[in-house]
Amino acid sequence: MSEELTAREVARLYKDYVNPDLARTMRITGLGVVEDHAQGCYVWDTEGQKYLDMAGGYGVFCLGHSHPHVIAAVEKQLHKMSLSAKVFFTAQQAKLAKKLAEITPGDLKYTFFCNSGTEAVEGALKIARLTTERITYVAMQNAFHGKSTGSLAVSGRPNYRTPFEPLMPEVRHIPFGDVSALEEAVDETVAAVLVEPIQGEGGIHVAPDGYLQKMREICDKHGALLVADEVQTGFGRTGKMFAVNHWDVAPDILIVAKALSGGILPIGAFIGTQRVWSAFKGRPTIHTSTFGGSPLACTAGLAALEVYEQENLCQKSAESGAYFKAELQKLAGEYPDLIAEVRGLGLLLGMEAVKEEYAGSIISEMSHRHIIAVYTLNQPKVIRFEPALNISREDIDSCLKALSESLAKTREMFKGRM
Ligand SMILES: *Cc1c(COP(=O)(O)O)cnc(C)c1O
Repeated sequence: MSEELTAREVARLYKDYVNPDLARTMRITGLGVVEDHAQGCYVWDTEGQKYLDMAGGYGVFCLGHSHPHVIAAVEKQLHKMSLSAKVFFTAQQAKLAKKLAEITPGDLKYTFFCNSGTEAVEGALKIARLTTERITYVAMQNAFHGKSTGSLAVSGRPNYRTPFEPLMPEVRHIPFGDVSALEEAVDETVAAVLVEPIQGEGGIHVAPDGYLQKMREICDKHGALLVADEVQTGFGRTGKMFAVNHWDVAPDILIVAKALSGGILPIGAFIGTQRVWSAFKGRPTIHTSTFGGSPLACTAGLAALEVYEQENLCQKSAESGAYFKAELQKLAGEYPDLIAEVRGLGLLLGMEAVKEEYAGSIISEMSHRHIIAVYTLNQPKVIRFEPALNISREDIDSCLKALSESLAKTREMFKGRM
């Protein structure tokens, strides 16, 4: 397409050719502008307006947008070979798999590459069955593992699940953080227990201390696999490379995606132990992906991992997150009528509003002030903050200022109606 479209024309094409209801929702929530380019913590629309991105693609943009180191590596690889011919080895895949074995906890060693979070979850579910020769899964209420049918079966929100039932059977959903429910649910028929160490879309709920250690013990006792979904929490988001590191727990399978390629290309992967990979013995092509592990995506992954180290992003995330969280808690203290709680670790922070409509109003006021903030998919009462890990103090402060104004405006608006 040669000519530039106006924002109105793009909205119209969405209405006519993409998804009419989505187009309407976007317009109502004030997100009906058209993105044009992005750098670091900022996104610009086609009208030249600048936005501070505090949503960070829900965990994709740990490095911020368009990180120059990753772009340079990808640009170079693009002209050599971008997708694999699928009949030879690729050096980039080999190197990235080795690197992931080095930075992941415990005995995690082998990596399967795909293109998204939900695909990685699907693969992990399949391999867990083969390894254990069992068919039952234990998953958490309110979990989010993606929207393909297998992932949906282990996810929590009824809105997304019910229209597709019956889904994969033999899934036991238990409350997150409840040890006795876990003890009751896991037995000799369970292939795997799936957990997000911090529930992202469920509303930024951090695993209680001791919970994951107990889960490790219970899984070991019954020969079940512990599968950690770190699609959103991985790569420094929570102040450590992986969220499980906060509790020194090593899963049997670790699932990653969003931030692995530094926000430049789609990628997904799951990393497993020797025991888990016995599933591939004698049948190395039992699970495959056409695009997964391409030279281009793996080049992005390798370059991104260099940036995580060079820019010390885990530490930055921990430090900025501690400051940001304390400031959010101060604001919550000033607005107990609007805000119930602030939760999270590192730069995965959530602010739970007392009512869903308050969250909606705060988010919309923020967007008028050109701050991108969003709610969590399974819990619309919770406003989440997941900016780039290298966000400056200045940018955090301008978000806080806009938030403070948005809280005041929201209180004013609902006055007498509370
Ligand atoms: C986003 C997300 C997924 C799904 O990833 P997609 O790439 O959207 O399929 C799975 N698990 C968690 C924890 C996520 O946050």
